[in-house]
Amino acid sequence: MIGGGVGGLAAAIGMRRHGWAVDVFERSAALPDVGTGLGIWPDAVAALDRVGLGDAARRVGRRQEDGVVRKPDGTVIGTIPASSVHLLTRPALLGVLAGALPDGVVRFGTPVGLADCAGYDVVVGADGIHSAVRGELFDASVRPSGAVGWRGTVDVPVDAGGETWGRGGKFGLTPQADGRTNWYAMGSDLSRFADWHDPIPRVLASATDVLRHELLFLSPLPSYTSGRVALLGDAAHAMTPDLGQGACQAIIDGVVLAECLAGDDVDAGLRAYDSKRRRVTQRLAARSLQLNRLARMRRFTGVRDAGLRVALAFAG
Ligand SMILES: Cc1cc2nc3c(=O)[nH]c(=O)nc-3n(C[C@H](O)[C@H](O)[C@H](O)COP(=O)(O)OP(=O)(O)OC[C@H]3O[C@@H](n4cnc5c(N)ncnc54)[C@H](O)[C@@H]3O)c2cc1C
Repeated sequence: MIGGGVGGLAAAIGMRRHGWAVDVFERSAALPDVGTGLGIWPDAVAALDRVGLGDAARRVGRRQEDGVVRKPDGTVIGTIPASSVHLLTRPALLGVLAGALPDGVVRFGTPVGLADCAGYDVVVGADGIHSAVRGELFDASVRPSGAVGWRGTVDVPVDAGGETWGRGGKFGLTPQADGRTNWYAMGSDLSRFADWHDPIPRVLASATDVLRHELLFLSPLPSYTSGRVALLGDAAHAMTPDLGQGACQAIIDGVVLAECLAGDDVDAGLRAYDSKRRRVTQRLAARSLQLNRLARMRRFTGVRDAGLRVALAFAG
């Protein structure tokens, strides 16, 4: 396994359950101890259940409540209904996954490439959005969506989470169990949110460790396998974060790959993995990019918001 992020660890856990001996090479020196929240959707929690980790993930996370979608002046557009999404911090999720592997399986501080893994029966490229493994197999690299994302965590409690959509960007809030609040924003700079409704200016005034990302996406790959190498997670289908599905799909990829490799015919297993996962993840990536473009509209936002209101009414 090249990469010990959420997808690589999920695959390693699943493959060990199906009798494989697995080494995970991870370039970071250790698991991270800080990180913002990830929304883990029911299909990903169900995948964790299939490797015996669903309850552990539920325990360290919390259920997401209803989220209100507003305009910058605070007017309500609609409500994202309460769902079975679990909010976990990235360190908590990685902790659950890594804790299910015996010591020594994950070799921290060990960056590797395909050439270093020649002796293995199967190599999994789980090396994230800038995957070097993908670069060796396919003529494909990530492209800018044109959007910039910002996020962080503040000591400001908020009553409810949700998103606010305005001209050229959006701002999101997710309360944490400990009274702190995760926030994220999409827009060219944070000053544009200064006159949006409360508590957005207060949250921004308290923000210290602000993370800034160019939001990138990968054009569809022709296959998620090549010979005895499989790609998963962001290495296979890096998407903009608008649907909150990247880590979820990485987990599902890992679990499904392991299930496909449970039999004796490895080549058939890899073909089955590609056919089960490629179309569905590429469709999600395309929808996420569409949503990203909608959220960044500068004109016709009234029409957009009316469409959003109808879509949210049907979602309820
Ligand atoms: C702003 C933002 C918000 C997001 N919110 C959500 C959300 O709410 N829900 C959700 O599901 N997803 C979310 N995502 C997406 C999610 O973070 C990613 O899709 C997910 O982390 C991908 O998992 P992965 O295992 O494929 O890659 P990664 O988590 O990136 O892991 C790849 C690992 O490979 C290692 N690595 C890289 N190269 C090498 C090498 N040569 N040798 C050894 N190791 C190597 C890296 O150190 C890393 O640990 C968000 C992303 C962003 C940017």
